[in-house]
Amino acid sequence: MSETEQTLSIIKPDAVERNLDEKIKLIFKENGFKIIKEKKIQLEKSEAEQFYKVHETKPFYNDLCNYLSSGPIVVMIIEKIGAVAENRRLMGATDPKKAEEGTIRKQYGISIDKNSVHGSDSIENANTEIKFFFNS
Ligand code: UDP
Ligand code: MG
Repeated sequence: MSETEQTLSIIKPDAVERNLDEKIKLIFKENGFKIIKEKKIQLEKSEAEQFYKVHETKPFYNDLCNYLSSGPIVVMIIEKIGAVAENRRLMGATDPKKAEEGTIRKQYGISIDKNSVHGSDSIENANTEIKFFFNS
């Protein structure tokens, strides 16, 4: 039996820029998530580099950090039973072209880099990412 969990969601610059933040928040609520905390911020590049440090050896790392820090984002702690996996399912595949119907990335993602949302991929990373934005 899964337990109530919290995970970190980010509405990325491409989605905030297109004024999709309220629509995406509604999708979370309609799918049973509670939004516990939220804030709209813009990251410095150095903060994006720290956030995405797990990807620092990847070829897309520099572009990814430039992108995440390129405009306002909405950062949220969201809560539900099994929230980490449920959020990953609702987001859809990293590449919107491969995302299933009904997922946020299928509906709103532009490309593999501009894919509209971030979600923690494990409970451990959710805790780390929540602290990164809300507990410092
Ligand atoms: N990304 C990219 N090119 C790639 C793979 C990933 O630009 O080939 C970006 C994309 O924005 C993705 C982020 O890097 O959301 C983090 O990658 P990850 O594999 O963790 O995907 P996610 O967990 O976001 O689905
Ligand atoms: Mg990831």
